[in-house]
Amino acid sequence: KAAERSADCLFCKIVAGEISADMVAESESAVAFKDINPKAPVHVLVVPRKHHADVSALAGASPEALADVVALADQVASDLADGQYRLICNVGPKAGQTVFHAHAHVLAGTQLTGF
Ligand code: 5GP
Ligand code: ZN
Repeated sequence: KAAERSADCLFCKIVAGEISADMVAESESAVAFKDINPKAPVHVLVVPRKHHADVSALAGASPEALADVVALADQVASDLADGQYRLICNVGPKAGQTVFHAHAHVLAGTQLTGF
């Protein structure tokens, strides 16, 4: 079983409150905070509390935790925007993943174009 927390992981530190973030929502298994470099009027990261390297590992180890991430993303999009949103999960460097703790990006609050 994977460790609940990974040493030197940025998002584990944010989950633990050791690094500050602009929290917007939380649930039993996940937290949601504003992306430091927003790409849309609403750009929130939804992060499971337990460490998994990416959403692929999360899906394999804990599909219920992945479902919780999607549910919290949906709640954030309703609370901070109009409930319309794009949900992005980057898995691996080729997809642009830079933080290797599973997360989903919620983009909302404007007409989104392209991918
Ligand atoms: P990835 O490319 O791994 O899917 O996305 C990682 C995201 O984390 C990026 O959009 C980046 O702006 C965001 N990020 C990186 N460091 C921090 C931080 O210290 N605080 C917050 N709130 N977001 C961060
Ligand atoms: Zn982590």
